[in-house]
Order: sequence, then C-alpha cells, then structure tokens
Amino acid sequence: PDDRPLLETVLRGGHPSGNTVTMRWVHKSGSVRWIEQRNVLVQDSGGRLVAIEGIARDITERQQLEEQLRHSQKLEAIGRLTAGVAHDFNNLLTVINGYSDLTLREMLPGAPGRRKIDEVRKAGEQAAALTRQLLAFGRKQVSQPRVMDVNTVVKSNSNILRRVIGEDIELVTCLDSDLGSVTADDGQIEQVILNLAVNARDAMPQGGKLTIETRNARPDETDGAGRSVMLAMSDTGCGMDAATQSRVFEPFFTTKESGRGTGLGLSIVYGVVKQSGGNIVLQSEPGKGTSFKIYLPRAEEPKASSEASPAATEFPSGSETILVVEDDAAVRELICAVLQEAGYRVLKARHGSDALRIVQQHEGRMGLVVTDLVMPQMSGPALVGKLRQLNPEIRILYTSGYADDSITRYGPLDPGIPFIQKPFSSESFLQKVREALDAASVLT
Ligand code: ADP
Ligand code: MG
Repeated sequence: PDDRPLLETVLRGGHPSGNTVTMRWVHKSGSVRWIEQRNVLVQDSGGRLVAIEGIARDITERQQLEEQLRHSQKLEAIGRLTAGVAHDFNNLLTVINGYSDLTLREMLPGAPGRRKIDEVRKAGEQAAALTRQLLAFGRKQVSQPRVMDVNTVVKSNSNILRRVIGEDIELVTCLDSDLGSVTADDGQIEQVILNLAVNARDAMPQGGKLTIETRNARPDETDGAGRSVMLAMSDTGCGMDAATQSRVFEPFFTTKESGRGTGLGLSIVYGVVKQSGGNIVLQSEPGKGTSFKIYLPRAEEPKASSEASPAATEFPSGSETILVVEDDAAVRELICAVLQEAGYRVLKARHGSDALRIVQQHEGRMGLVVTDLVMPQMSGPALVGKLRQLNPEIRILYTSGYADDSITRYGPLDPGIPFIQKPFSSESFLQKVREALDAASVLT
C-alpha cells in the first residue's frame, strides 16, 4: 500500500527517473518482496496508452544484503566512537576511583567527609560498569577467554541477580552438576546473564518467575556442531510477537520508552555469544513468556582449579622495584602513588622508548614492569617484545582501558602475561602486582 501512489505515477508515464523503479509488493505468502521494475509504455498511433511491457526482478535478497552491510558499517562506526570515549573515560575513572581509594584508606571509619568520598567511590564504580557495557558493545574489550564453568558465574552472581530482578520475581536455578566447561571470558558471560535478567525483569512488571538452567546440550539441539553447553534463561513475562522477535538482536532496537531501554542489551549478548563460537535460540509467546537458550562449544581441557584467593584484610605489599609505563600523566602518578604507599620502589616511564632506556640503565633487579597496552608509537606488546630481548625473564603486568585494533587484530593477548582492566581498585591492582611478582618463573 505504501508504494501504490508510486506505481500509479509510473503507469501514467509521469515518473521523472524514467521507467525503472524499485517498489515493494506483497507476496501471496504475506511477506513483502522488493521488486525492481522496468516498464515500457506501449502507445497506439494516436498516442493512447494501450499496454505496458516490462521486466520485474525480485531483488529482495540483494536489498537485505545491502541492509546488513549498512547495519554493520553503522555498528563499526559506533564501535570506534564508543571505544575512543571509553578509553579516555577509563583513564579518568582510574584517577577518580584510585584517589578516592587512597583517601578512604587514610580516613578513620567515623571521620567527617568519609561518607561523601564513599559516595564518590560508588558513583565511580557505576561509571566504570557503564564504560564496560560500552566497550562490550563496541567489541573493544580485551577478551580473556579461558576454560571456565558457567555454573560458577551463575552462582557468584546470584546476589546481584536477585537485586536486579527485585522481590516480586522468583529466581529459580537449575544447574547441572555434570556441566562441561567452555572457553569464554567470565566477565562477558556475566554480562550476558545480567542483560538477559534485566530484560526478563522488564517483561514481568507484575512479578513472575525467572529460571536459569544449565545442562550439556543434546546432539540434536546443535545439529552436528559438536558438543555444547546450554545456558537457558526463561521468564513468565509478556513475551514477544514474531515481528519483535525478528529484530531483538539489532542494536538500538527497543520497545521500551526512551530513557528505559537502550536497545543494546541483546546485541551485546549476541556479540559475546558469537565471539565465543556459540549460538542463541529464542523462543517466545506473547502473554506466556520468553526463553533464550545459549549454546557454547564445550572446551576439551578440564577447567583450571579455581584457586580461592584468601580474603585479604591488608593490602598486599612488597619492596621490589617496579617500572610503570603509562602515557597518561594523571594515571601514571596515581599508579606510582598506590605502589609507593604499598612499599615498592617505583620508576616511571612516559612511553616505550623511555622504558627501554630505564631498563638498560637500571642496575640491580627489576621486579616487574607495569605497562599500558595502548600507547602512541610503541604499544605494550611491542615494548614487551623488546624488553624480552634485553631480559627474557622480565615480568610484565598489562593495564588497559580498552584494546584498539592494533591489539585485538592479533587475537587474544599472550595468556602468559597477566592483565588488569582499567579502572581498577587499588586493592585489586596491588593483588595483581603481587601475583605477577610471585608467579613461578616465566615460561616463554
Ligand atoms: P532494551 O532492553 O534496552 O530495550 P534489548 O536489546 O535488551 O534492549 O532488548 C530489545 C527488545 O527485545 C526489548 O525492548 C524488548 O522488546 C524485547 N525483549 C528482550 N527480552 C525480552 C523478554 N525476556 N521478554 C519480552 N521481550 C523482550
Ligand atoms: Mg535490555
């Protein structure tokens, strides 16, 4: 119906761009097809229109491919933009959160002003979570896949999940104790579960039930794609009609009022699952509920024993010499302050060549090099390559707010090198530093 006036104009011979037009026709199956039409108007000797000759070509598929291409170009552009913003944000947040941590440590429990700094710290944490979402969307996160157990992620997030869904929704977990392990990034799987939970909550404003189930997939479920692990999240909410179902994974597709929905949740879920080599199946019925089933390929190796890190009451400390390589001055100063406060001797470098010079001139043992991943001129991994030529045993800790293409292009980072995501808390940073210093001799 939308294209009927166009067709009428063409038939009257009144269309300016000649007689080739593209318009939509409704197929007898009810689906809409894109048709490219060339029309030749046949007139009799008196100039009266007596017939129309033409060729009609169904170009629906081409149209869809073009649409997909435009879509992925849009995604790419947004990804670049968000990654750039998130990178700067993460540096700023590292400074805000870091100095809040340091200040809080200096204050006595009842000190005036403590509550205010606490609020700053909390807001900083929320901002950090937001930039993580943005990076996940731009797929610019440093993904650290490892052999892991989906049940553990569900269990360790159950408190957050309960808080997210609220009291009117019952949370039921049905976790297979024989579940195989998968190769994925814990943080990303956590995001998948949280995004699906938030959607389920929004679908059940009057309350209901959210069921999280894990089990090893049956072979018929993955049609020959090899052994998989299934994670299903099902709700008893409003469900979706077919038109909504076909668009839910599109970025920015939302049926929620503005301010409530971003339309990014499911496109992040989709990105993570695809990045892990998995698949999503969506089942939904309006008024009845919705179920998302995620299939992730099973990992062959057994999962690494989860070393329970003892609850540290004191911040881990030490007296080794540590070189800090960071191009952002404020972040560099903060990292150095945190390390010095914990007792370390600290050397600073603004960039890779600075760092190489310091390492060459340094007498005595260099305990650890803490380096940013993304720096102008020489990236973290390039610096590490050169440092290893000088000293194959040298220990490294990467820090980064995001990974740009120069990093992600070569796939995941060298798993032998520890990494900490900016912004970090002083505590988790010092923990990582201690682990890097204490790790058994470097293998590579
Ligand atoms: P947002 O939640 O910001 O709208 P999402 O990408 O997470 O964006 O979801 C897109 C849309 O998919 C939602 O607006 C909603 O219409 C639909 N949807 C997602 N999950 C569910 C669900 N569990 N039940 C019903 N509708 C859902
Ligand atoms: Mg959502």
